[in-house]
Formats: sequence, C-alpha cells, structure tokens
Amino acid sequence: MKRFIYFFILLFISTSVLGQNQTRGKVAIAIHGGAGTIKRENMSPEREAEYRAKLEEALKAGHKILEEGGNSLDAVVAAIQIMEESPLFNAGKGAVFTNEGKNELDAAIMDGQSLQAGAVAGISTVKSPISAARAVMESSPHVMMIGKGAEQFAQEQGLEIVDPSYFYTDTRYEQLQRIKNTEKQQLDHDGDNRQGLLDQKFPDRKFGTVGAVALDMDGNLAAATSTGGMTNKRYGRVGDVPIIGAGTYADNNSCAVSATGHGEYFIRSVVAYDIAALMKYKGLSLNDAASQVIKEKLVEMGGGGGVISIDAKGNIALPFNTAGMYRASIDTQGQMYIGIYEDE
Ligand code: ASP
Repeated sequence: MKRFIYFFILLFISTSVLGQNQTRGKVAIAIHGGAGTIKRENMSPEREAEYRAKLEEALKAGHKILEEGGNSLDAVVAAIQIMEESPLFNAGKGAVFTNEGKNELDAAIMDGQSLQAGAVAGISTVKSPISAARAVMESSPHVMMIGKGAEQFAQEQGLEIVDPSYFYTDTRYEQLQRIKNTEKQQLDHDGDNRQGLLDQKFPDRKFGTVGAVALDMDGNLAAATSTGGMTNKRYGRVGDVPIIGAGTYADNNSCAVSATGHGEYFIRSVVAYDIAALMKYKGLSLNDAASQVIKEKLVEMGGGGGVISIDAKGNIALPFNTAGMYRASIDTQGQMYIGIYEDE
C-alpha cells in the first residue's frame, strides 16, 4: 500500500514539474525596423539582404535569451541594441537628423508584469538610448526623463556616453537635405492630408524606428522601442515612441506593443494602449484589436505606420498600413518569419 502511495506522490510531482516546464517553454518574440514607403522596385538585392540579415541577427539574439530562460526585458533590449548599433535603422547610430542637423533620440521600455516603464527623449550622447530608458525604469522613481537631465542620469548610472558625432551617417544627412527641399515643394502643393496612406503624399517617407516585443518562459511580456524620430523634426519635437501607451506598451493581461510610424498620429490615437484596451475591455483577439487600430482608425485619420504585438499566449500580430514594414518574429513553435513588403 505504502509503495502505491509513494508511486502516486512521485507521479504527481513529476507530472506537475513537467507541466510547469511545458508552460515555461512557450517563448516568442517579434521585432520591427520601421515602416513606410518600402517597395521592392526601390530596393537593391544587396540592400535587401543586409536588412534581412540584420533583422535575423537581432531576432535571434533576443530569442536565444528567452530560450535559455532569460526574461523578456533582457530579450527586447538585446534585440534593440543590435539594431541601434546598425546604421540601417533610424535608432542609435544611423538615426535621422533634426532640422538643425542634429540627432535627438527617444526610447521607451515597459514591463508587462509589474507595469513599470521607463523612457528618455531628446538625448544625444547616450550610445544605447534603450539602456537609458531601462535605467530610468529600474533605477529611478520616474517614468520619463528628457534632454540634458536624462543624459546626466545615464552617465551617473554608468552607461556608455559618446560624442554626438557617433550617431552621424552620410546617408541620413543627405536624406535631411533631400527632405528639406521636398518640404518647399510640399508647401507649394499643400492640400488635403487625409489620404489614408501617407505614401501618396510623401513618397519618400520612411519610419525606421526599431522595436521589440517578447513573451518569456514565465509568461511575462515586455515591449521596447528606440528611435531618432522623424527627419527634419523641429524645436524639441518628441514623437510617440517614449510616450507610454502611444508607441510602447506592455501588460501581461492583454499584450505588448511597439509602434513605428508618424508619431503625431500615434500619440493622438494612443495606439499601443488602444490595442491593449480593445483586448481587455472588449475581448477582441490580438489580431482583431491590432488590425482595427492600424488598418481602420489610423487610416481614417491619415496616420501611416504599423505595430508589432504579442499577447500572453504568444500570438503575434504585425499589421501596418504603409507599403512595407521591416519585421521579423519567432513564434511559440519556433517558426521564424522575416518580412519587408506587404505581400509576404
Ligand atoms: N514613430 C517615430 C516618431 O514619430 C518615427 C518612426 O516610427 O520611425 O518619432
């Protein structure tokens, strides 16, 4: 009899441990490298290969951390830092220029378990803006710091400080000159901006922000976004990225979202939180909630862009309303997906 009891106790312990491992095993991650008028006909095969390779590298770096049992915050930061260091994307090195010819960076991170968040805006000397946002979240009582104060805080936290010239790239500088000229032409043709998709009015417009969302083995979600903002931005302009609920949001009870697109529209539509709220209060699936906000609400307003999003079950939705969005994901089955254009 005793033997039987021991046997059942052992069976119970082993199945519950196994059960736990199964739940712990479900990890997933998605990243983006910006949305906009990204068309096959304008892209050389070499350039396209570079983008795909960098997306894959960033995606795998984040996924590796998750697979080894690391947390979702570490995973999103690892993925973003690879893209911040790459001049291909509008974040960190290779960030776009302000009207004054400077690089001013914004970033935010949110922890879906604790609902803690951290953000920085308008910084020019911290090598990894996402690490500054994380420091604000973890080592200060605040949620957002801007400009010189944020830079001083980052330095005190021991983060790597660089000369502002670190962020400079010729390509982005030339882009600023082109857009400055375009702007004059646009004034000449100023008209209705409610076209739905910005592509028609701004054929050169690209939003190269980077972002990552992840689900770790403990079921915790995280979202993070990092950007140089928009080319030719003026007067201390800050976009949606560091505004919690607009460009970045995470809540274990709904989803984690990172956005890219025309920030002014994303702020006014409170995009990331709107998606979470549609799930939480209206019971929509992640896919329905994200599509409704990006493909209906934003289109009606005339706001171009997209999001990457993930829910607590590991479902992933990557909707956008522009011609393309650099995006990649690895789902709970380990399936990798990398896409740039609309039709893939
Ligand atoms: N959303 C960013 C901003 O408005 C731009 C981008 O997504 O590239 O600052």
